[in-house]
Amino acid sequence: MTQTMYLFCVTILAIFLGVMLIAAGVYCWRQKRYLQQLTHILERQIQTISPVDFGSIPQVFTPLITALINLQKSIPFNVERDKLTGLSNRVGFKRKILSRMPIQHGMILLIDIKQFRFVNDLFGFVFGDALLKAFSQRVNSLSRKAQFVARMNGNEFLLFFPEVIDHEQLLVIKDELQQPFEIEQQPISVTVQLGALTLTEHHADVSIMLRRLDLALKKAKSDQKGIAYYDKDDDKKQYRELLIINSLPKGLKQDQLFMVYQPKLDIKSGKCVEVEALIRWHHEGLGEISPDEFIPLAEHTGMISLISGWVLEKVISQQAKWREQGIYVKVAVNLSSDDLHGKPIVADISNLLTRYLVPAECLMIEITESALMASYEQVINTIEQLQMLGVKVAIDDFGTGHSSLAYLRHLPVNEVKIDKAFLQGFQQEKQAQSIVKMTIVLAKELGFDVTVEGVETLSTLQILAEFGADRIQGEYFSKPCDATEFAQVYPKLSQG
Ligand code: C2E
Ligand code: CA
Ligand code: CA
Repeated sequence: MTQTMYLFCVTILAIFLGVMLIAAGVYCWRQKRYLQQLTHILERQIQTISPVDFGSIPQVFTPLITALINLQKSIPFNVERDKLTGLSNRVGFKRKILSRMPIQHGMILLIDIKQFRFVNDLFGFVFGDALLKAFSQRVNSLSRKAQFVARMNGNEFLLFFPEVIDHEQLLVIKDELQQPFEIEQQPISVTVQLGALTLTEHHADVSIMLRRLDLALKKAKSDQKGIAYYDKDDDKKQYRELLIINSLPKGLKQDQLFMVYQPKLDIKSGKCVEVEALIRWHHEGLGEISPDEFIPLAEHTGMISLISGWVLEKVISQQAKWREQGIYVKVAVNLSSDDLHGKPIVADISNLLTRYLVPAECLMIEITESALMASYEQVINTIEQLQMLGVKVAIDDFGTGHSSLAYLRHLPVNEVKIDKAFLQGFQQEKQAQSIVKMTIVLAKELGFDVTVEGVETLSTLQILAEFGADRIQGEYFSKPCDATEFAQVYPKLSQG
């Protein structure tokens, strides 16, 4: 190869590497390893050309390498810092904590700003960012006691204390963090939740440490005071949850899961015209698992659509069998909010109804009020499509999601189901009765049918009938029963 060709090749290589340098500069703020690899490639390139003397040409690489090395040096600061708040981020936290290992004493707190999402939704991201900055400064001011602080992600902050903080002190910290802020001349308060991990034993693994903190924070979120400590039993609980989730596909395939049906009583006619399909799981190792345990787990892990698809097929095929026996009952199926957006659920339901020759009017979908509120915009569109198909829709657990009936009045739903929680103390307390009465009156006024669930006694039924409820569901009328049992009792239940 002639010297001119080498000159040409080396120049092209230099230009190429220059471009790579700029791209790497941008990309490598996050990807330090990529930058290291690039530097090595560059060095190797020089080693391959240097045996041949091309005058000063290879020197063109020198400023490039220097620039890359400088860039690489500047990165540890950036990859370990959170851009918005300037605090350490997860990477920074990990390095700092590792440098202190083994830690025998101390406490780590994971702090979460409750429902921060609503701040962004209501006031916009600029306001949300300003609040996060102000909050991070306040967290940082606690570092006089803490050795370091970090922003782990979104609205989660972490503090490491070299000594154990007692409960009283934690309450003070919580209180300090909850003092009102002033953002863009607006006063705003936040509620924080606090998960604590006491480092009394040798904690050598950072990822285990973080997982335990997550568990503590998860507990804090359902704790009234918003403070919870990691406990050894939490690991057992997590193990059980993992086992449940991992065995779900096999459980569905092997029919360890099955459906039961709870009749609803139509108060006026005294007949059963509708049933609710409820799932059950007899786990091969764990025995009976309540849907109250495995449904939320499936929702959190994105596996709920697996259950819902299975349930819909079981229920609609069961309806076809009942129809052959002359049982033309409407069946209500519980779906989660995840089922109702971004997925072809309406087409799936339509296909199943066609395949099993079941009229759409014989299917009702129950969706909880809180699920509806969590993703209102996306869900509403699917509800409209279901209505167009002829499928009925009910708002489940009504009254537990803190939304007003007035807000729900535009929803294309047919029925409101009042949660059984509202019947607690119903017999004795006039106030409990007034709440149910008002809800029924308002719901009827807005054009919804009303079902009250969890009715266990005749006297409750009588009061609800007086208040104007349309249907009741509960053990007074019937417990959930399997498909065969239901077929046997149906003639009696449907006589009125
Ligand atoms: P839910 O939709 O509110 O269902 C009513 C729950 O109340 C059922 O509990 C039912 O067995 C119970 N119940 C009925 N009558 C009475 C009564 O008189 N007294 C009392 N104390 N309880 C009564 P279950 O079957 O344990 O279901 C719990 C929750 O699990 C359901 O609450 C529903 O949210 C969810 N779930 C059940 N099956 C499915 C399903 O197939 N898919 C989905 N996504 N969720 C389901
Ligand atoms: Ca339900
Ligand atoms: Ca309920």
